[in-house]
Amino acid sequence: MRRIKKLLERLLRLPLPAVDAVERARVGLCTDCQHARRIVSAKGSSFWLCQRAVTEPARFKRYPPLPVRTCGGFVALTAR
Ligand code: SF4
Repeated sequence: MRRIKKLLERLLRLPLPAVDAVERARVGLCTDCQHARRIVSAKGSSFWLCQRAVTEPARFKRYPPLPVRTCGGFVALTAR
């Protein structure tokens, strides 16, 4: 179990995969936000998880309706 936890932690630290223009238009701000995690299903569908929903569930949805055009929690990836 500890080994799996360490593997997951390592995977979550990996940079987000490249996002093409179509995905960027479909998703909006989350594609460039440090709080977002892209989850790709076995069938190839992608979902965007907002990690701020874990600590602030009243303010953020775990899977926000897309596209996200404005968001008070947005922090640009380059601001890391
Ligand atoms: S904080 Fe806003 S922009 Fe960032 S991942 Fe969550 S919903 Fe998307």
